[in-house]
Amino acid sequence: MPAADRPRTVSRLAAFQGTIFAEMSELARVHDAVNLGQGFPDWDGPARMLEIAREQIAAGNNQYPPGRGFAELRHAVAHDRHSRGAGTFDPDEEVLVTVGATEAIAAGVLGLVEPGSEVILLDPYYDSYAAAVALAGARRVSVPLARDGHRFGVDLDALRRAITPATAMLVVNSPHNPTGTVFTYAELRGIAELAVEHDILVLADEVYEHLTFGPPHIPIGTLPGMRERTVSVSSAAKTFNVTGWKTGWALAPKPLLDAVLTAKQFLTYVGAGPFQPAVAHALRHEQAWVARLRDSLRGKRDRLSAALEAMGLTPAASDGTYFVCADVRGIGADDAVEFCRRLPTERGVAAIPVPVFSDHPQQWRTTVRFAFSKQDAVLDEGVRRLSLR
Ligand SMILES: *Cc1c(COP(=O)(O)O)cnc(C)c1O
Repeated sequence: MPAADRPRTVSRLAAFQGTIFAEMSELARVHDAVNLGQGFPDWDGPARMLEIAREQIAAGNNQYPPGRGFAELRHAVAHDRHSRGAGTFDPDEEVLVTVGATEAIAAGVLGLVEPGSEVILLDPYYDSYAAAVALAGARRVSVPLARDGHRFGVDLDALRRAITPATAMLVVNSPHNPTGTVFTYAELRGIAELAVEHDILVLADEVYEHLTFGPPHIPIGTLPGMRERTVSVSSAAKTFNVTGWKTGWALAPKPLLDAVLTAKQFLTYVGAGPFQPAVAHALRHEQAWVARLRDSLRGKRDRLSAALEAMGLTPAASDGTYFVCADVRGIGADDAVEFCRRLPTERGVAAIPVPVFSDHPQQWRTTVRFAFSKQDAVLDEGVRRLSLR
């Protein structure tokens, strides 16, 4: 190979090049398929929130915000948490504004996990966790969720077996992407007891905290013994339909948050300024909009699940997020990756195979993730195509 074309990505990141998302989106584009693969909403958030961001730029809020983010947003985040019993945080020392939840996750791992220690992920998992662990030079240990009737649950025995003296952190994502599982109190309590017993930190990815359709989300940081060992992460992206704003936050007691801040300050220094007052407004004044979003997503979940069922796939319960997972064995398929490569041509719909989110691809071999966070016209066309005989 000519030297100029030689792959140059460092070995600890080599496995993360290229993603199935790019391949599936390209297939969707070529075949003019309804893209139920990528998990973003295709309609706008609260109008006043959008207007405030525009006003902020016009008014000159265009230079570096403070390192921890504007006080206005930190106070709004802490107030929102406190008012719904999701934890009490000092807005000046225990709240950090980040460039999306993604940066909060990366900074959390980089700032709190020593190279060579282990981070446990519940499998399947959001792809940025594994990359953050690799960037930190830590070791990833993944514990598969287990099928529990119509849902996927936490396998506490497997989790216990995965813990070693080197375990530094456990990433808990509930409501869970890609499965749509909302962990129960009993599951969270079981995880919390293990974390306390073995003195493990928990990074709680709660970006779908407001998007639940049945049992509410329980923040693991509110469980006994958990406050002092939990970094809670959330974001405006999924709550207010602004995935492009990359405005998120981390919450933790000072010693933990200082570690996150130390890493964050050299990743990006600060997040974008004009969005912060807009998100602060939304947290304080747009909860009714969020409630309508939640109700509308519940209806979309129902319509998509029914269409998957009509097609002969077996959808699992989705109690939150943008996603429902279905098993393709019902229609005689036995490989989700192959199924997703054919779906854009055969049905005019794109979806994502769950094995790409997993270190245990055999276990998820026949599971496919569909996103329902689409406008009615788009989703209904997807549903129509899936339901065709
Ligand atoms: C979308 C998503 C994120 C990223 O959130 P940003 O605020 O856009 O960085 C993190 N975790 C999960 C599980 C997600 O689905």
